[in-house]
Amino acid sequence: MTQRTTAIGVFFYFACLFFGPLGAQNGWFERPLSPRTANYQMKIRLDPDEKMIYGEATLVWKNPSPDTVGDLQFHLYYNAFKNTGSTFYRRSNRLSRLPDSDACFWGSNEMSDIRDGAGRALQSRYIQPDDGNTDDETVLQVLLREPVLPFDSVRVTYRFVAKIPKIMVRTGYSRDYFFLAQWYPKVGVYEPAGTRNARVGGWNCHQYHSNTEYYGEFGVYDVDLTVPADYVVGASGSLQGTTDSPAGTTHRYHVEDVIDFTWTASPKYLVFEDQWKHVRLKVLAFPGHECYVERYFEAAKHSLDFFDEHLATYPYHTLTMVDVPYHGLFTGAMEYPTLISVLSLDFFPKGVLFSETLTVHELTHQFFQQIVATNEQEEPWLDEGFTTYWEGRIMDQYYGEKSSAFKVLGVGAGNVEYNRIEFLNMGNPKITSCAQSGFDTKADNYRTIFYNKTAIWLRTLEGLVGEATMSDIWKTYYEKWKFKHPGGRDFTDVVNEVVRKNHGDRFGDNLDWFFEQVLYGTDMCDYAVSDISVTPVLPKAGILDDGTCVGLKQTNAPDQWRSKITIYRNGEVLLPLDVLIHFEDGTEVREHWDGRDRYRIFEYTKPAKVAWAEVDPERKLHLDADFTNNGMRLKPDPLPAQKYGGRLLAWVQNLLEVLAFFV
Ligand SMILES: [Zn+2]
Repeated sequence: MTQRTTAIGVFFYFACLFFGPLGAQNGWFERPLSPRTANYQMKIRLDPDEKMIYGEATLVWKNPSPDTVGDLQFHLYYNAFKNTGSTFYRRSNRLSRLPDSDACFWGSNEMSDIRDGAGRALQSRYIQPDDGNTDDETVLQVLLREPVLPFDSVRVTYRFVAKIPKIMVRTGYSRDYFFLAQWYPKVGVYEPAGTRNARVGGWNCHQYHSNTEYYGEFGVYDVDLTVPADYVVGASGSLQGTTDSPAGTTHRYHVEDVIDFTWTASPKYLVFEDQWKHVRLKVLAFPGHECYVERYFEAAKHSLDFFDEHLATYPYHTLTMVDVPYHGLFTGAMEYPTLISVLSLDFFPKGVLFSETLTVHELTHQFFQQIVATNEQEEPWLDEGFTTYWEGRIMDQYYGEKSSAFKVLGVGAGNVEYNRIEFLNMGNPKITSCAQSGFDTKADNYRTIFYNKTAIWLRTLEGLVGEATMSDIWKTYYEKWKFKHPGGRDFTDVVNEVVRKNHGDRFGDNLDWFFEQVLYGTDMCDYAVSDISVTPVLPKAGILDDGTCVGLKQTNAPDQWRSKITIYRNGEVLLPLDVLIHFEDGTEVREHWDGRDRYRIFEYTKPAKVAWAEVDPERKLHLDADFTNNGMRLKPDPLPAQKYGGRLLAWVQNLLEVLAFFV
């Protein structure tokens, strides 16, 4: 490289660093990407000894609706950890995770001195929109002196004091490690009529339930975090600078067009940095885990590359990956805007790609649930299912279709394959539908139904409509709904629109018949080759047309064979499928069946016998619950290697299932 090209390279490097693809400075976009409905300025002080956060905040909230709105509703998630009366504890078995001691490991969050833009004090009260449990203080309603007019905005100031819980789920402290998610008073989402399922405008601000996650509004965050000088900080967004004072070091963060703000602090963090195009990548890890850093960076770069090519460019300027310590394990495997928590387990052999899978999964959530900001509480399939589908595509592409979940002792499984097995091996795969809300879904079923089953039927949809149309569907959905709040019907509407455009009425008027079965229904799908038989076709005996008489003994050598193949529909789900029939002379016939009847028989009279038949030879129907009955040979074909491979697969799967609840 010449000196001149080096200089140009350096220029572009810094240009990318500071101006990115959207012509924006680090952390700032040239123009808003989102409606910027909820905008926060917060000054925060962390007291690590007392495990407290002291905050002063200003919220500017824009009314996104034509309604006149008389109140604001805030999530105070830490109050879920305040005592055993909260809905979070009453409706879960999380209490068993609490340490058996008298130490005050509980959490809380209290807002005070709430004032409007004119400095007038505002009244507030806890409300329980979901279950009326008056002990639950996870939603605070603030009554405005003057309602917010349609599309107007209101400015509110307040203080808050958060007692940080010992890590229970996703957030808290452990020793001098702080992972601060769901930590500040966060305004809910006001849904104008027509948003998702809303018939009239209103707040969507659910209490904190142990099974469900979150739903956030887009905005800009300016957050000053003051921590002891020896603490290393990681946070959503871009660091704008630091200043030292007797109170500690203040880290100033700015991030735009995101639905949340999360941060972490510890004096023991090691910091590693890398770059992907305009994105500053950072890993925060603890001593002893340096060996995983490159694996995180590599998985992140693969994901960013993949989205760049197949969906959209990651718009933000930073991505921070936090490798959580063992003693803070329950903060691991979570997604927040521009910051994800990952984890690595030293006892896993290197062939188990747990670290990579988590990185890809949590990074994918940047697109599905943070940029396309769906409601995780009411429609978890829209984020977890979509994310699992993309996770499978990315992992299989970069780490191999037969090894992207694990490869141990020469036996491996791909991510997509593994997710399918996980769903099919659950106790009762028909227990609930993907469209169920998260509130009432048992934790055991949450993952398998919302994550795995959704990913499997998305793959099946891709098999039916083809990769090109599926790609069209994703791009159309993303472009239409990025920085908005779509619901499930908005996704299926996009599918119907794109499939109609690309395929006319090949799949009927629309694909609602598909969604009724796989999204809203609980039936299983299974097609099988149930029987193959061959009978000889002998030449004609007796008096033939030319008057000759042919005896039976002269016709005992068949010149043709009648092959009969019976395909059976074992399941209740009806899907169109292909059947491939292979004959002993190497010829093949491909049939298409609408899959609606209980069975279908294919018959052929040919000089060669059928050798084998296979339903869905390209495995387009990922929902098919049993691939082992998809094919049949005329003669038995034992496959001992597969049998033993299957046992090892089951063993590794059991091991992984123990850890599956993390993501
Ligand atoms: Zn997830």
